[in-house]
Amino acid sequence: APAAQWVESWPDDVGADRVRQAFAEVFSADDAEDVRVYAAPGRVNIIGEHTDYNAGLCLPIALPHRTYVALRPRTDSVVRLASTQEPGAAWTGRLEDVAPGAVTGWAAYVAGVAWALGQHLQATGGSAAQVRGFDAVIDSCVPYGAGLSSSAALECSVAVGIDDVAGLGLAATDAGRAALAAAAIRAENEIAGAPTGGMDQSASLRCAPGHALLLDCRPGLDPARAVEQIPFDLAAEGLALLVIDTRAEHALVDGQYAQRRATCEAAATTLGLANLRELADTVIAAAEGDAAFAEALGAALDRLPDDVSRRRVRHVVTEIARTQDLVSLLRAGRASDVGPLLDASHASLRDDYEVSATELDVAVEAARDAGALGARMTGGGFGGSAIALVPADRAEAVADAVTAAFARAGLGAPGFLLAVPSAPAGAC
Ligand code: ADP
Ligand code: MG
Repeated sequence: APAAQWVESWPDDVGADRVRQAFAEVFSADDAEDVRVYAAPGRVNIIGEHTDYNAGLCLPIALPHRTYVALRPRTDSVVRLASTQEPGAAWTGRLEDVAPGAVTGWAAYVAGVAWALGQHLQATGGSAAQVRGFDAVIDSCVPYGAGLSSSAALECSVAVGIDDVAGLGLAATDAGRAALAAAAIRAENEIAGAPTGGMDQSASLRCAPGHALLLDCRPGLDPARAVEQIPFDLAAEGLALLVIDTRAEHALVDGQYAQRRATCEAAATTLGLANLRELADTVIAAAEGDAAFAEALGAALDRLPDDVSRRRVRHVVTEIARTQDLVSLLRAGRASDVGPLLDASHASLRDDYEVSATELDVAVEAARDAGALGARMTGGGFGGSAIALVPADRAEAVADAVTAAFARAGLGAPGFLLAVPSAPAGAC
């Protein structure tokens, strides 16, 4: 049987050395004195999927896998970029030319953060010109396009870098980090043109080691009230969180995300609500037990015009409830009891939200068969990654079993990560 392929994280000094060396090669800099290194983690979401853009709840942790940026400030407004992951796609531009639609490719994530921080400064009584140009080189061990948020890791490493060299001081406080996250979200939405919700950037900037971040995505919520650190020390309970990167490449998924989002927004409008979170709160408050929950939800679903919207909305409402239930179990020190909630989340994403994929279903089933306490797809879906909660001493056996199941199904080999809740973005 083929061996499981593990995707190791880099210790910070290794990542920092790599990216400094790459910088010296790209910019032929023998004097690396004014080069500073920053890093930001990818994230994995434990539960609360496709809820962020519905003003719902999600529960990400920061991965030990990080994106590193070596950054040298400039006195002009020129930005020069290169990435080890994008050989042959170096980019040069000027800050004043960055605008929605003006930058294509991976550089949009980086230039977009500089632009969004300039906008933030302007809106808060400063000047966009406080953000100056820079030369930067990127290197990363966060798997690409795997639903583990390499895009946010890139944005947030750059965000803390610009914050530092411009002396903004935002990374020093959680409220400042919320502002950096907002800028990274604008970069992704408006400059990179990806209509994603806000979970990824908040996770990369605001997670804490040993904790999961309970993120309340209601718009306009005070940043301090929007997050809560939930102790998530699986090792203490003899457990581990295995991430399975299916490495599935899916064509024709363009627009699926935007479509789900539009369906949810239309359903909320039909129900006379600002968002589906309001429905979830009403249903959860009305329900004392499972039967009452189903009845209250059913009454709302009956008011929707078609079966597809009913199923989409059912996913969002039940997923928000599951997130609350899972957090209650964690607070009670019962991490080993959360497996059924993970399984129910997967079924809901597969059957009601219809964002799973063969690879994700194979991964989840093989992991459970090999002794996982629960498993589900994570991230946006249609490929990407799954998670499995496993007894720590079973992690390797589960990875081997999933690898074997992929081979039997004729699928390419998946990758495996151990998701220990790690540190947020910062200087190295
Ligand atoms: P995910 O965030 O799940 O990994 P996305 O599609 O949101 O997937 O983001 C992946 C994109 O982000 C890449 O196609 C690339 O444009 C950009 N990106 C992420 N990491 C890097 C990196 N290390 N170097 C250059 N671009 C990167
Ligand atoms: Mg992303």
